[in-house]
Amino acid sequence: MLIDRFGRRITYLRLSITDRCDLRCRYCMAEEMTFLPRAQILTLEEIATIARAFVELGVEKIRVTGGEPLVRRGALELLEELGRLPLKELVLTTNGMRLAQCAERLVRAGVRRVNVSLDSLRPERFRHITRFGDLERVLAGIEAARRAGFDRVKLNAVILRGVNDDEVVDLATFAIERGLDISFIEEMPLGVIDSHDRRQAFYSSDEVRADLARRFTLLPTTDRTGGPSRYWRVAGSDSRIGFISPHSHNFCGDCNRVRLTVEGRLLLCLGNEHSVDLKRVLRRWPGDADRLKKAIVEAMALKPERHHFDLREQPIILRHMNVTGG
Ligand code: SAM
Ligand code: SF4
Repeated sequence: MLIDRFGRRITYLRLSITDRCDLRCRYCMAEEMTFLPRAQILTLEEIATIARAFVELGVEKIRVTGGEPLVRRGALELLEELGRLPLKELVLTTNGMRLAQCAERLVRAGVRRVNVSLDSLRPERFRHITRFGDLERVLAGIEAARRAGFDRVKLNAVILRGVNDDEVVDLATFAIERGLDISFIEEMPLGVIDSHDRRQAFYSSDEVRADLARRFTLLPTTDRTGGPSRYWRVAGSDSRIGFISPHSHNFCGDCNRVRLTVEGRLLLCLGNEHSVDLKRVLRRWPGDADRLKKAIVEAMALKPERHHFDLREQPIILRHMNVTGG
């Protein structure tokens, strides 16, 4: 079992399987990005080996993310392999651009839930935010996911003042009409971006909730998915509305997760640089599962108590979300 030094049980691993992406969302990446050289990134076999070690140590849930996971060649085969591990939940976060082609195979692989990023329902604006996104393709991906039989499909929307804050109700309505969940996310200061001032664009979860309360009756729930989302239900619907509020409501107290970057760094916290280089362990002692597990167990001693995001300062975390694995 993995217990950190604050007594929190770690049961959830987020696996970033690529830092690359076919989009360049303005809150996530700068227009010009340098990606990691191939030799520095874990092979799919190495990722599977690390995942297996975590599961043997008691991890019950794996989320595959990136970058855009579905752009990596072999991603579906990796998901199939992860689907054979004794997990309670295998989930995927995607931008939806390739979801229409993959949805059924993902369900067959054992992916139970999928999160799709959707920040706008207006084609022009969607293109503006994502730089290369095609709203129609993403909507087709969401439709395919609904039909394919996932347990839940959830939308993720990062709300930015002056960019898409006028779409909060429309996005929620879109989700509710289709029986989907939706989470509204406050932008986090990860990586240096060039398109907006994060302080000015900050739109708090409380503001989003106030927008929603003008249209819907929101009922508080105690639902937690073991993550940072706090959920509300909408009266008369099955949909849940979540809020991920790193600024306004610190979510670290019951943190149960760690992240593996595609370079094989085990990140102990989204908002800190504390990490352990598992790739080094893996490549120095290939095939030595015990040594890998020992490194993972020891890493738990480094897990910080909480993040310290501060919008007034330059980002202290220079890695972008595509590297962190959102
Ligand atoms: N490409 C996939 C996608 O877009 O869903 C998976 C990776 S992406 C980094 C995961 C999530 O992180 C997305 O929902 C995205 O909106 C969110 N995200 C990216 N940069 C962020 C930031 N600076 N602050 C808050 N959320 C961010
Ligand atoms: Fe790509 Fe996801 Fe980042 Fe957008 S949020 S640039 S889709 S990794």
